[in-house]
Amino acid sequence: MRLEKNHERCIGAGQCVLTEPRIFDQDDRGLVRVLIEQPQGADEAAAHKAVFICPARALSIAED
Ligand code: SF4
Repeated sequence: MRLEKNHERCIGAGQCVLTEPRIFDQDDRGLVRVLIEQPQGADEAAAHKAVFICPARALSIAED
């Protein structure tokens, strides 16, 4: 799986970072940075959770 971000949609709400700080960060504009682009194991479930909670639908998962 591959975790993808959409900066056109991201509103910098930070929910992803608060929920999964191992996987996400924010740049100096507040926009999401994906630290682990190909999560594995427990990080896969965490990535799915982040996609679900993002209020702007700025995260998505592509299956390889
Ligand atoms: S990806 Fe979603 S939850 Fe994360 S900072 Fe952007 S808008 Fe907020």
